[in-house]
Amino acid sequence: MKTTHLTDTRFTNLELSSTILKGLKDAGFEQCSPIQDKSLPIALRDRDVAGQAQTGTGKTASFLLAAFQRLLNDNSEKKKYPRAIILAPTRELAIQIHKDALLLGKHLGFNLALIYGGTDYQKQLKAVQGNVDIIIATPGRIIDFYRQKAFSLDNIQVMVLDEADRMFDLGFIKDIRYLLNRMPAPEKRLNMLFSATLSFKVSELAYEHMYQPVMVKIETEEVTSESINQFAFCPANEQKIPLLIGLLNSHKPERSIVFVNTKRSAEKLADYLAANGHQTALLSGDVPQEKRQRLLADFQASKVTIMIATDVAARGLHIPDVSHVFNFDLPQDAEDYVHRIGRTARFGAKGEAISFICEEYAYSMPDIENYINQKVPVHKVTEDLLPELTKPAPRPRVPRKQYSPRKPAPRTRTKA
Ligand code: AMP
Repeated sequence: MKTTHLTDTRFTNLELSSTILKGLKDAGFEQCSPIQDKSLPIALRDRDVAGQAQTGTGKTASFLLAAFQRLLNDNSEKKKYPRAIILAPTRELAIQIHKDALLLGKHLGFNLALIYGGTDYQKQLKAVQGNVDIIIATPGRIIDFYRQKAFSLDNIQVMVLDEADRMFDLGFIKDIRYLLNRMPAPEKRLNMLFSATLSFKVSELAYEHMYQPVMVKIETEEVTSESINQFAFCPANEQKIPLLIGLLNSHKPERSIVFVNTKRSAEKLADYLAANGHQTALLSGDVPQEKRQRLLADFQASKVTIMIATDVAARGLHIPDVSHVFNFDLPQDAEDYVHRIGRTARFGAKGEAISFICEEYAYSMPDIENYINQKVPVHKVTEDLLPELTKPAPRPRVPRKQYSPRKPAPRTRTKA
């Protein structure tokens, strides 16, 4: 872990119990990251925090430590469960939070329940019915359990909403409001919300369901500048794949993510890369959960060093130490650009973010440059970056369902 991005504030100087400090020491955390430095002193005084911070800034520890401390301070004789709930938009993020909670909370003896869709229904149901201190969950499955009265929200003392902007993007906001409305009133709990952007709708949610939250920001410039070397190329459409392979050959990235906008584009690219000696993990939105986990584990263990991903698939993924991010297709949303390139250069490590300004998506660039408040320098596409490629074998065609025209519905006369 590089320490250049940490502040001078030591965890030992914060109002944290010795059992929490012990967990931090074991994890090797000594100094706070900027978001921890800004948010912890507030949350440890029981004030609500709405923080603008992305994955990779240390936001998870910010809310976990504050939640732990609040639960340790609860000296009621007969504890009522569950006492805290952490909501995350994706399974991967929930799994990561749970992992961090086990690490940092090692000496606390808290009961954690990890709840997410796709697998282990009965096992998770049983877990949530027990005396759980902290539930870490994605919205869909936890609502399902709540509706079955598997647990109660009456005793929630800490509520965390992680990646709130993604909750909106993924259509979970109704579910979130449903859950929030069934907890004790905002002033009776400690509320923490984290989001990559504190947009109007996120701030509105914060004001509605939190008690006088303090807004804490890690500015976009702090995220995108300095440690990420951003540059771009303007290839013709047919040059995009050769250029990517040329760059992979010359840069030899330790571990890279190639972002594309569509599943079709992802598959074509994966086929070309495979035919030209680059094995990839392909992560599109429809990859089943088990396979996603396997691909991610392979990527994390560096068995595969190139991941091709769409924005939806990559949301909330925790992938440390990515050396290169390629925007094979420029994102159509400027915020996504920041999300994407934020996956490199975490915690002050150096990273490269290379974007293709192609004929199809070039129109996004002015918006992106406006948003990040800087110009992305454009490099020339030189011949040596365009290798001769081997064409991949065509993919087997999946037979389409026969089209059967529907009979039009009979017209009904309506009286005037
Ligand atoms: P997060 O943004 O919460 O996903 O954290 C990014 C990474 O930084 C994770 O691997 C954390 O374990 C690590 N991390 C978080 N806070 C600290 C800290 N204060 N010192 C060192 N590593 C940290």
